[in-house]
Amino acid sequence: MQFKEVIGQTEVKRKLIGMASAGRVPHALLLLGPEGNGNLALALSTAQFIQCENKTEDDSCGTCSACLKNQKFIHPDLHFTFPVIKPEKKTSPAVSADFIVEWRSALQQNVYMSYYDWMQNIGAENKQGNITAEECRQIIHQLNLKTYESGYKIQIIWLTEFLGNEGNILLKVLEEPPPNTIFILIAENGEMILNTIISRVQILKVNQIEDEDIKLALLQKFEMDEGSAKRISRMADGNFNAALSMTDGENVNDKTLRTWLLCCYSLKLKPSSDNTKSLIDWVEDFSKAGRENQKLFLKYALFFLRECAMISLIGNSEKLDGEELAFATKFSKLLLPEQTETMAKIFNRMYYHIERNANPKILFMSNSFKVASVFKNEEVTVD
Ligand SMILES: [Zn+2]
Repeated sequence: MQFKEVIGQTEVKRKLIGMASAGRVPHALLLLGPEGNGNLALALSTAQFIQCENKTEDDSCGTCSACLKNQKFIHPDLHFTFPVIKPEKKTSPAVSADFIVEWRSALQQNVYMSYYDWMQNIGAENKQGNITAEECRQIIHQLNLKTYESGYKIQIIWLTEFLGNEGNILLKVLEEPPPNTIFILIAENGEMILNTIISRVQILKVNQIEDEDIKLALLQKFEMDEGSAKRISRMADGNFNAALSMTDGENVNDKTLRTWLLCCYSLKLKPSSDNTKSLIDWVEDFSKAGRENQKLFLKYALFFLRECAMISLIGNSEKLDGEELAFATKFSKLLLPEQTETMAKIFNRMYYHIERNANPKILFMSNSFKVASVFKNEEVTVD
């Protein structure tokens, strides 16, 4: 992957290119920042830049043999570690190599993928991914072999959070890697990484992508009008993977959300059989929408709450207009900040459960009553 293919992140790219051109990439670098920001895209383009045989001042050439191999993620001196599950029928511990074919094809499709996309890709269902002790030992073994072709061996570790205490196996090699070896670690949540690892890496923070950059990327990649691209980019909240998932179909989430919130609110005003029936109808209908649409809907609901909080705070939202803005303005007057926060927690947990295959009818029904309780300012437990 070339730097020019990475969306936005101009400043981080400049730093990485600067370090690599001067031969000053730290031997253990950690790219730290939120999902969908392009951490992995940056790691891949840095690796390609370092290994390119014919680089220009600010990018790899894209055509030399090292670049061609990097573009297929098959360069023999580029190693990948990522969370995996234990393959069925395997008796020894799982290692990344068990899923390298799936990994390469997932990267070909979308280097902005999330952990959950990846887990679905390898059929993990509800199983938790892991980076095993055996994988750590293989990293050390592989890096001690001599390089095949480039001057540098590069080890990318995607989602370092999944290195539990096993990460301690890597401390020595992180501190003093074999000559011409570079570790590029990637993480979304620094607090979940062992301190012993954090203290041995140089951290480069990577923020979320600017809305404008997401909009431009959407316009470039899809046949899309400017209005839709703008709308998606502001909802994606700096996460290009989220933006990608919003690109098919017309966005009806604002109307769906309005109907749902009004149903829940009406339970606060006058719990009658009519009001309950409208809610039941809504839940019946929406539970058939499919998991991916339900996830997008909840993402939209979270975006909407954030904008309501902005309206309460500064009196306006830069991201909403028309009917949406009018509704958000009215809505923001109904809730105190702590109520908005509780509602956001509810939506977040719903997202979590939908992702883990909860029954949508039960989930939306029980949480509708919770949302109604938030409107009434009653105490609500979020689980
Ligand atoms: Zn090249």
